[in-house]
Amino acid sequence: MKYISTRGQSPALSFSEILLGGLAPDGGLYLPESYPQFNDADLSEMRNMNYGELAFAILTRLIDENDIPATDLKAIIDKTYRADVYGYTRDSQNAEDIAPTLKLEYNLYLLSLSNGPTLAFKDMAMQLLGNLFEYVLAKTGKTTNILGATSGDTGAAAEYAMRGKKGISVFMLSPHKKMSRFQSAQMFSLKDSNIHNIAVKGVFDDCQDMVKAVSNDHAFKSQHKIGAINSINWGRIIAQVVYYFKGYLAVTKNNSEKVSFAVPSGNFGNVCAGHIARMMGLPIEKLVVATNENDVLDEFFKTGVYRPRGSSNTYHTSSPSMDISKASNFERFVFDLVGRDATKVRELWNKVDNGGAFDLNMSELNAVGYFTKVTSYGFVSGNSNHANRMHTIRVAYNNYGVTIDTHTADGLKVALEHRDVNTPMLVLETALPVKFEDAIVEALGSKPTRPASLNGLEDLPQRFDVMDFDVAAIKQYIVDKTT
Ligand SMILES: *Cc1c(COP(=O)(O)O)cnc(C)c1O
Repeated sequence: MKYISTRGQSPALSFSEILLGGLAPDGGLYLPESYPQFNDADLSEMRNMNYGELAFAILTRLIDENDIPATDLKAIIDKTYRADVYGYTRDSQNAEDIAPTLKLEYNLYLLSLSNGPTLAFKDMAMQLLGNLFEYVLAKTGKTTNILGATSGDTGAAAEYAMRGKKGISVFMLSPHKKMSRFQSAQMFSLKDSNIHNIAVKGVFDDCQDMVKAVSNDHAFKSQHKIGAINSINWGRIIAQVVYYFKGYLAVTKNNSEKVSFAVPSGNFGNVCAGHIARMMGLPIEKLVVATNENDVLDEFFKTGVYRPRGSSNTYHTSSPSMDISKASNFERFVFDLVGRDATKVRELWNKVDNGGAFDLNMSELNAVGYFTKVTSYGFVSGNSNHANRMHTIRVAYNNYGVTIDTHTADGLKVALEHRDVNTPMLVLETALPVKFEDAIVEALGSKPTRPASLNGLEDLPQRFDVMDFDVAAIKQYIVDKTT
């Protein structure tokens, strides 16, 4: 299996060759040259598999034996998907079951993806990435310095995945005093010597601009082996494909049944994995894209117009991990949507990269059935705001006895708008409510329960360095810490 760029002007590479990088050299994103297909017999066989076996069955079709031998891949997966890593479960759930479902009512479920170490779905993929990185670096005798910017969830998931890993150092920039108390405590209490937290006196965009400035200094980047683990990383996407299979198999009895998934979305990474699962043959009816007030994706699925907004037009909301106005994985989906025409993608993103928008002409798309459920592209969407979010958290609590976080609430709100009671609907739970305690107190008047292992988290000693918005300073910092 080789990987090609959505812009069609980079050489095809193997999985481990694209694993550590970000964008392809031509500015595109990597996708497999064709999607492996899972037929009826494959799906039937998968019904007897646990999570690790499912992950192996899927990943082994995407990674060649001569790239990562199957025995090594198996060992990496077994090391990753363990109950002691993903074992936080609600009372009725079985801790041995990775990514369990929770029934809310007839044909309505939560898919619990946030039971990992940082209590957000990003752990599902990031933990695997940590083990894959360590393996590939050891094999090639290389090291990497991962530089990232976070407003909360990504940084924590990355640090918990990379802590103590050989050959890897992490430099994570976050906006000083702007994360939730829980989020800062999660990151800043880590004691591992390969984890460096830098609190930047500024906002998230300043952090991201510093990362971009360092990455654009190609000489510095290659000399100091700067790597990335952002949302466009293909390793993260394939790890996410697995739980769509898991969710489907958990709520169906035979392969003629279809299910729908509702996905709280920002960078389009999570729902892109759903799209890919469907392209591989998983019987998905609708993919429901849920946004918050930052509704760029909702606008696209309703009008065919993709109009990213600048960071100054991004709202700060109570589902902050979806405060994104440029969906970095969206190009992967559009590549498939336009029939894998790289010239067309270059033309469209030429507009986007110059601050513009594009219109895929809804009536044409509808004429060929792209958005209707009868094609393999069935997508619908909706958005949510703070009042909807508070209301939905209360509905989930009162009707189902379940406390959900603000992002999952956006997913449930939009799921209910697009629900067909004859088709199971799975809402992806992208974070646990304890990460966003203040919002839960506002909605329900009391704090959510917290996993016992995290009691007193905010009282642990914290370790981080404060820095001004200063590109030279972060470069010097990386040099000082790595030599
Ligand atoms: C990252 C994140 C999202 C958005 O996921 P994308 O893959 O960027 O669409 C939603 N909810 C939570 C809690 C997140 O951390």
